[in-house]
Amino acid sequence: MASRHPSAGATTPSSPQMEVSRIAEMRAVHSAFLYLHNQELEFRRWQRELTHIPAPPFGEAARSEWLRERFSSVGLEGVHADELGNTFGLLRRSNSGPLIAISAHLDTVFPLGTQLQTLEDGNRLYGPGISDNAAGVVALLAIASALKRAELQTAANVVFIGNVGEEGEGSLRGMRHIFSTPPWRESIRSLLVIDGAGTDTYVTQALGSRRFEITFQGPGGHSWSDFGTPNPIVLLSRALAHFSEVAVPSTPRTTFNIGVVHGGTSVNSIPESATARVDLRSASGDELQKLEERLRECVDEAWTEVPLSFRAGEVRVRFAIKSIGDRPAAELPGDARILKIIRAVDSHLRVKSIPRLASTDANVPLALGIEATTIGAGGDGGGAHTIREWYDCSNRDLGLKRILLTLLALTGVNE
Ligand SMILES: [Zn+2]
Repeated sequence: MASRHPSAGATTPSSPQMEVSRIAEMRAVHSAFLYLHNQELEFRRWQRELTHIPAPPFGEAARSEWLRERFSSVGLEGVHADELGNTFGLLRRSNSGPLIAISAHLDTVFPLGTQLQTLEDGNRLYGPGISDNAAGVVALLAIASALKRAELQTAANVVFIGNVGEEGEGSLRGMRHIFSTPPWRESIRSLLVIDGAGTDTYVTQALGSRRFEITFQGPGGHSWSDFGTPNPIVLLSRALAHFSEVAVPSTPRTTFNIGVVHGGTSVNSIPESATARVDLRSASGDELQKLEERLRECVDEAWTEVPLSFRAGEVRVRFAIKSIGDRPAAELPGDARILKIIRAVDSHLRVKSIPRLASTDANVPLALGIEATTIGAGGDGGGAHTIREWYDCSNRDLGLKRILLTLLALTGVNE
């Protein structure tokens, strides 16, 4: 369906497919496409430069600064960072009205001190975080730059966001902050998240997770003379053993993992403390809630088995369950506009893509009922979260076109 539809204007309702075709035929859009194709070498330079800047969870300041400079130099307005380091740049068409947001996370999983070297071999770039998410941040910048250069007149204002805190213990803190702070909370109508490489998926379901640290504590003592004193390692093991037998549904898929256990000091001491970290995941918020309740019951059960005399008094056996991560589960409604748009764009570009269940920055708006999806930055990638991570730049511009068309269909664009 490539024919021009005469009645399809930015303000006239039309099918997403017709709207995408209309936009793709505009002269300014062609010039943006050309820019995205021709700037590949510049994009590689940005991507390597960015990968060299450390951005461990809670340490994204230097990347935030790098992005602010680039946002300003491509001509975005109102460039600033908030108190967490989330970086914003605006493409403003009017002084008010709804915003369409496009974002990429700045942080990596790599702790400070990781060797951040990059290597280029033909179309392949190597480096920790080169794909997840240097590719995403480069795409964000490439799209901002293309829109400015082609002088595209979006109907709605666009905010470009480089956000902190997506990975691991960051636990979506960047997005969570944005969507709980004015003016963003009230004005962002939809969010397009760019994360990692690829053109073949779009996220329709936000995988929820809850993470807990469970600690048992007791008086401890000598292995011989205090024999009989409840042992926190044993209590914790019992709780974990109970929990490991909990049945979880396969639809909606629900899983759990016990990832870390530590406790005790020496073989001839009854430990004073033992701790485990547990990861619960589900596509359904209700299932996540049920699983959390089961975990709490298992811990409580193990504690209840302790003789009463050790559960009362000064130095008694205790437990604590601390939340160390909470990502909401949610789902895009089947008739969401953003879903129709991405499918129309993929059909226009003849891209074969499939819906995906994932835990990304889109979890936050989705859980608030705001339309959002996550797509890749084009090209191809692998070895994510390892120091052998790679990104293949071949056909990056297809992914960039996909992002541009999706964004423009979301904002509407004036001829
Ligand atoms: Zn990522």
